[in-house]
Amino acid sequence: MINISKPFIGEEEKQAVLDVMGSGMIVQGPKVKELEEKFAKLCGTKYAVALNSGTAALHTALYAMNIKPGDEVITTPFSFVASSNCIVMQGAVPVFADIDEKTFDIDPKKIKEKITKKTKAILPVHLYGQVCDMKAIREIADEHNLLILEDACQAVNAELDGKKAGSFGDTAAFSLYATKNIMCGEGGIITTNNEKYAEFAKRFRHHGQSEQTRYEYYDLGYNYRMSDTAAAIALEQLKRLENFTKKRIENAAFLTEQLRKIKGITTPFIQKNVKHVFHQYTVKVEEDFSLSRDELLTKLKAGGINPAIFYPKPLHMHPFYLQMNHKEGDFPVAEEVSKKVLSLPVHPLLTKEDIQKICEGIRQL
Ligand SMILES: *Cc1c(COP(=O)(O)O)cnc(C)c1O
Repeated sequence: MINISKPFIGEEEKQAVLDVMGSGMIVQGPKVKELEEKFAKLCGTKYAVALNSGTAALHTALYAMNIKPGDEVITTPFSFVASSNCIVMQGAVPVFADIDEKTFDIDPKKIKEKITKKTKAILPVHLYGQVCDMKAIREIADEHNLLILEDACQAVNAELDGKKAGSFGDTAAFSLYATKNIMCGEGGIITTNNEKYAEFAKRFRHHGQSEQTRYEYYDLGYNYRMSDTAAAIALEQLKRLENFTKKRIENAAFLTEQLRKIKGITTPFIQKNVKHVFHQYTVKVEEDFSLSRDELLTKLKAGGINPAIFYPKPLHMHPFYLQMNHKEGDFPVAEEVSKKVLSLPVHPLLTKEDIQKICEGIRQL
């Protein structure tokens, strides 16, 4: 079976875990600190704060920026649910703005229409590994005095105009979950240039205590700490990041070369000046393809290829969000796109033969 993702666990990762075990310091310690320094350097930000998931990173970033109950945060309806659940976790209100049908990212023009007196922040998601139009989003934010949290969970090492994902927002959140471009099982990390936000984030992950004064609880917090065993894995993965990224980009180019000419398959659109890191390689199965998207998925699976649908339904159409005054028809582009998208395997462990098999499978169908 050619799977949609395959975590890479090398000898170095295994040894790094054993070393941490041997040190006796398995909770948050020196490895977490080292990861934070290296990750900030990668993104070109002053600070990074490690947490135990991407979801915790998103939640913590909103807390650090003082997003409170009643505040509105504008985000995309076409993402993993954590992008918008984190807003609800802070008691704030997720306000969706529709996406661009080509990039699958939030459409800046639609953001503008959603701004009210209560809007405090914009939460763009760099979906599949392609950075959003951050220039337009920054202009809107500055004009209306709004903060930006980038959901960069799928976009480590992605770039726009030569700048890394994670360096555009007031804060940004990354995930190190097992299927992401680099991983440590479960983990997350925030980047920011704001010293206060970094400090608030460190307190929030540690029950409202500062790292200097224990058992002084300044505010509500959680246990969102990353362990040194996880950080040690992430540090090894960080060394592999350039190679992994290169391989994903090459695999995507090879897929596109072969799929481009198939009638009814729309290959990924890459925005000018963007380095798309292909967390997912997502095509659209159009009406003039010989099979429906779901039929194509089923037949590929029967042939030993395991694509996936990210995401089969936009967020506003799920029970939890329908009860927040949303309804079908509210975000037509996201709804249309969710019926067409199909993500094909693109991960770095694929061989050329695997990719040929995927493309041949589609061509034959
Ligand atoms: C994976 C992901 C998250 C959540 O990260 P976890 O580490 O699984 O909590 C949030 N947003 C997006 C876009 C993601 O892909």
